[in-house]
Amino acid sequence: MTRGVCILGATGSIGKSTLDVLGRHPDEFAIVALTGNQRVEEMLELCRIHHPQRVVMADSASAERLARLLKQEGMGEILVEAGAAALAEAARMPQVDEVMAAIVGAAGLLPTLAAVEAGKRVYLANKECLVMAGALFMDAVRRHNVTLLPIDSEHNAVFQCFADGRGVRRILLTASGGPFRAWPAEQLATVTPDQACAHPNWVMGRKISVDSATMMNKGLEVIEAHWLFGLPAEQIEVLIHPQSIIHSMVEYVDGSVLAQLGNPDMRTPIAHALAWPERMTSGVASLDLARSPALQFEHPDAQRFPCLGLAFAALRAGGGAPTVLNAANEIAVQAFLDGSLRFADIAPLVHDVLAELSTTAPDSIDAVLATDQEARELARAWLGSGKAAPQV
Ligand code: NAD
Ligand code: MG
Repeated sequence: MTRGVCILGATGSIGKSTLDVLGRHPDEFAIVALTGNQRVEEMLELCRIHHPQRVVMADSASAERLARLLKQEGMGEILVEAGAAALAEAARMPQVDEVMAAIVGAAGLLPTLAAVEAGKRVYLANKECLVMAGALFMDAVRRHNVTLLPIDSEHNAVFQCFADGRGVRRILLTASGGPFRAWPAEQLATVTPDQACAHPNWVMGRKISVDSATMMNKGLEVIEAHWLFGLPAEQIEVLIHPQSIIHSMVEYVDGSVLAQLGNPDMRTPIAHALAWPERMTSGVASLDLARSPALQFEHPDAQRFPCLGLAFAALRAGGGAPTVLNAANEIAVQAFLDGSLRFADIAPLVHDVLAELSTTAPDSIDAVLATDQEARELARAWLGSGKAAPQV
């Protein structure tokens, strides 16, 4: 019997890698629902190839355009909808057994939670979900007895090395260090969005690419690891490994260190999760260690990459701090991508919003969303306040 899959964020980098892997196993999976934001042409192309039953776009103008084009091409039977409620509906469909959560940012929280509450098997790429609402999200996972499998390459690696967690001393999350790993601090002030998005090892969406460049991505991943593996900040360490061949490691009390290695290609963690507890092919080439560059490791530089420290501080502070961190970072990254904030001002913005907004632990998803909104407003006020250094 085929397993029905819904891909939230099908037009993105993870969405496309997922479709590539699924396309290699057509007898095992049926693509039931796809969602996207506004890229109508790309979604049309995905419909031609995969013929889903249902498609959701973010807004009604995009949905109407897509529906018209589908009808012209004889695919009028595909149901096209728009909006947040329809996203959650797609994740809850009875024909859907499994949901790939690959929307970027806070927009992914409610549909991913809908998948959890409907008891689907969930593949989690959308790390912002866990950063925003980790305690409530993991409670829902337990309550609904959901199988939650990490897609983020580091967490997938830890999952593969973690067994039942007995005797774990710490986990070592590896980080490539991003495109500016070796850049002097002065030069970081003037980097452009295109420079920040040119990652040395991975091709990813623009938001996560900027997060990788500031190392906020690794900070978000530390918080993600805390919730997925139940370890405190003290047992999570970040290690720079520029070649991105070791995807993370788990150290045990007896001194054993288990690592997961592979070429840097997201199809490996995606195929691992889709097949778990079995294994299946992903299209990724064999790792040729004799030909690979020498593996290097170093400690992260807290001075040049302050976002990592901010994320650790938010995790230690607990309460609503990770929600605030995530929201402020989303606003800062968008402003940087729009050209209205310097790269070097991303961390100061996040720092100031965190310092200004003290919150208790949100006790409901509504409370999470309220904290998220409040932090976004403060971040926007910061942008308008003239605190940022002038553009050069
Ligand atoms: P992307 O920008 O390439 O794709 C994002 C997807 O989300 C697109 O399909 C887009 O249409 C959709 N989307 C964006 N905003 C939306 C909104 N408001 N409403 C509905 N849909 C919306 O991003 P990506 O690189 O694929 O990353 C997706 C998630 O996976 C992120 O949370 C990221 O941190 C995580 N992740 C990505 C990678 C990677 O290699 N790309 C690795 C690990 C984790
Ligand atoms: Mg990662």
